[in-house]
Amino acid sequence: METDRFRILFATSELTPWVKSGGLADVAYGLSRALVRRGHDVRVVMPHYESLFGYGGADRLVTSTRIDGFRIDVLETKLDDLVVWLLRCPGLYARPGSPYADPTGADWPDNDVRFGVFGRSLAWLAGHAPTPPFAPDVVHLNDWPSALAAPFVARSPDRPGILFTIHNLGYQGLFGGESFRRLSALLDMDPAWWAPDALEFHGQLSFIKAGLVFADRLSTVSPGYAREILTDELGFGLAGLLQHRAEDLRAIVNGIDSEHWDPAHDRFIAHRYDADRPEVKERNKTLLQRELGLEAASDRPLAVMISRLVPQKGIDLVLDALPGILSLGAQLAVLGTGDADYERRLHAARTAHPGSVAFARGMNEALAHRLEAAGDLLLMPSRYEPCGLNQLYSMRYGTIPVVRRTGGLGDTVNAATGFTFDEPSAGALLAALRAALAAYRDPPTWRGLQQAGMRRDFSWDASAAAYERLYGELHERPAS
Ligand code: ADP
Repeated sequence: METDRFRILFATSELTPWVKSGGLADVAYGLSRALVRRGHDVRVVMPHYESLFGYGGADRLVTSTRIDGFRIDVLETKLDDLVVWLLRCPGLYARPGSPYADPTGADWPDNDVRFGVFGRSLAWLAGHAPTPPFAPDVVHLNDWPSALAAPFVARSPDRPGILFTIHNLGYQGLFGGESFRRLSALLDMDPAWWAPDALEFHGQLSFIKAGLVFADRLSTVSPGYAREILTDELGFGLAGLLQHRAEDLRAIVNGIDSEHWDPAHDRFIAHRYDADRPEVKERNKTLLQRELGLEAASDRPLAVMISRLVPQKGIDLVLDALPGILSLGAQLAVLGTGDADYERRLHAARTAHPGSVAFARGMNEALAHRLEAAGDLLLMPSRYEPCGLNQLYSMRYGTIPVVRRTGGLGDTVNAATGFTFDEPSAGALLAALRAALAAYRDPPTWRGLQQAGMRRDFSWDASAAAYERLYGELHERPAS
């Protein structure tokens, strides 16, 4: 057997702290750093959204290529101990907004080209020798934005192994059928890929299918979600394909960056604490209540929510349960951005219940940390949840999670550290909240819950070791 120190081309469309729309950014950063610490040689590859994180020209030009009319420069830069390759193509990536959408939240109409070129460039990098040479053992693709690399890598000789990780099956990168023709001309796609057992999905071009069909191994981010995506209910029309590939599907639960999310050293919070001093949280709570215009009452339980405001996250269940939440004496503070209707309802709730409900709209990393440090409870009533990170951050911060038992939430929260419910309804959420508040009013029980969560190890080490074993499987796979 060869060395177990792998060269990994790690593809992502988001990377904390530079550009983040959700958990993928945190995972890309935390996992790739954990792999570096374990001695692997990692290149994180991402589009260069230069307008989203003002990066100057100090980076080293590794290599360049041309894909149809687009010139792609590969710039090498460092992020802490990570080596990052940014694919610079201003016409495609230097735009305001998020990686996927304009500042109003509308998807860019040419996302097929933007992420098609990204995938094609990744495949080119995987088989190309830049200076100094970097021939990967494994190409690790994450979610639909990088998935189109898989068929290009798969058709090349002497190729690296391909791992495709599903962080959320609900986002598939679907485009009208004409998009396949457009990209065929641009990227040199094989016409045979336009088939239901390849990239076609009911007449549409599906980027995620490129990963699901052509990768050597698939993984997802919790055992619970790995089971659920094989069902019609949560398979998003892909359960049949996933069942077909079930032997190649693995589950590895996400870790957290336990330096960045550490209440004992968190630079965003005023009063730092640890499992031996969880009562210090209360001082953070009073500060936050003032900051958000809530009644500054230390004995009122504060429930927080930090989330993309989309149906997946069950924000409507919280809104429906609001009268009950308030009648139980609790306060609610929500940080998030997303669907206009949820934002409108949250604004209205704040206006109707000043002092009891707060809503901060937007992405705000510092406030997310302050909410974790100040909250008594975290609400996460997701309809589905591949892994979920906030419940992990919460447990680390002694903020007790109240979660729906789905996907990774069911795998990571149990009766020793939080409260769970099954039915996706306001009533079931309220019943769990009622049980949580009974515990809140019994300080020894509450301390026990807090300390159990705070003392758990959520660091990336164990998960990175599991990815390493999976890379080992890929390395030893028979030549195709
Ligand atoms: P998802 O990836 O589905 O959005 P996760 O729980 O896996 O859900 O990860 C979400 C990540 O994004 C967490 O790190 C969370 O703190 C962060 N986040 C979500 N919304 C906001 C926000 N409005 N401001 C700051 N951070 C946010």
